[in-house]
Amino acid sequence: MRIAALLLAAGRGRRFAAGSPEGEGSSKQFRMLRGKPVIRRAAEALLPHVDILLPVGDDPLLADSLAGLNVLPPVSGGAERHDSVRNGLETLANLAEPPDLVLVHDGARPCVPPEVVQNVIEALKTHAGVIPAVAVSDTIKKVENGIIVDTVSREGLWRAQTPQGFHFPTLLELHRTQRDARRTDDAALLEHAGHPVAIVQGSDNNIKLTVAEDLMRLEGVIDGNLLPRVGLGYDVHAFEEGRKLILCGIEVPHTKGLAGHSDADVGIHTLCDAIYGALAEGDIGRHFPPTDNEWKDMDSARFLIHAGERIRARGGFLVNADITLICERPKIGPHAKAMQDRLAELLQVNVSRISVKATTSERLGFTGREEGIAATAAVSIMVPDNGDA
Ligand code: MG
Repeated sequence: MRIAALLLAAGRGRRFAAGSPEGEGSSKQFRMLRGKPVIRRAAEALLPHVDILLPVGDDPLLADSLAGLNVLPPVSGGAERHDSVRNGLETLANLAEPPDLVLVHDGARPCVPPEVVQNVIEALKTHAGVIPAVAVSDTIKKVENGIIVDTVSREGLWRAQTPQGFHFPTLLELHRTQRDARRTDDAALLEHAGHPVAIVQGSDNNIKLTVAEDLMRLEGVIDGNLLPRVGLGYDVHAFEEGRKLILCGIEVPHTKGLAGHSDADVGIHTLCDAIYGALAEGDIGRHFPPTDNEWKDMDSARFLIHAGERIRARGGFLVNADITLICERPKIGPHAKAMQDRLAELLQVNVSRISVKATTSERLGFTGREEGIAATAAVSIMVPDNGDA
């Protein structure tokens, strides 16, 4: 079974704009949500389940928001939702291998749980149309001019969500022949044509970003799925005459520098190892092998930028990092603030999250004899629980 998904980003977000502190014109699906555009999160939620993902919409932000993901180039949206879906379906129909099944998903639903998508696909084995839905639990009132005129029985009432799933030829045919039907979703097209549409259990976390306060609810869903993790780093480099001393991303005036393959920034190396450790992604040598001449004399800033990117790629963020440099000389205190500023800049975090401090080893051992500098780092990060943690 070949499965495609249409990701709709053509909505103008009128209701959101009205309630948004940023006012008219903010496109809700491109808002940042915990470091990623809403629509990127929606795409990432679908991608593990589908063979083809086709974004539909005209905003120039659309392609940017999805950069680097395995999606087709966006196709143009239409004046109304059903025009956008039609455009997407026709594009899929023109592929060399059109899909058997198609999911239609709102770009403004960034947190659809994997089991909801899977249940929709599973139920398509026995039905031409399937939607996720949640039973209405609030009492429903009919209101006119601010006054209740009726209490509506909620018996049998469900709230429809997306992704809605269909047999591709069925939905394509209905869109081609029922164009005038002004219907709010695709399931209604099938209902109108007499095709049974099944429901599967949706999720209260499958929130559609509609009004500004939904952003806070969505942040809560994302944060509720994050786990704290810690990592430790330790590194040592020997002093070497005739080299600049680079520590925590800045040059520190001293009589000698540190020996090493790269610029030998022992502070950044230990911080990178702590981050890779927290992510359980090995160590700095795995990502930048010292046998590889490309990294010779390399500015270690490059390594730390990579480590920070790995946290973001995993959907997480750095809570804090605490680095200790162990040496008799040079004195670190006068440079600590500049080091914190530089590390925060490389990691794209607020400087309040970074600590750089120093200690001596009371003239004991190799650091006491000023043969080299040792460093330790502890970091705390928050990353999504991938289910096996
Ligand atoms: Mg090192």
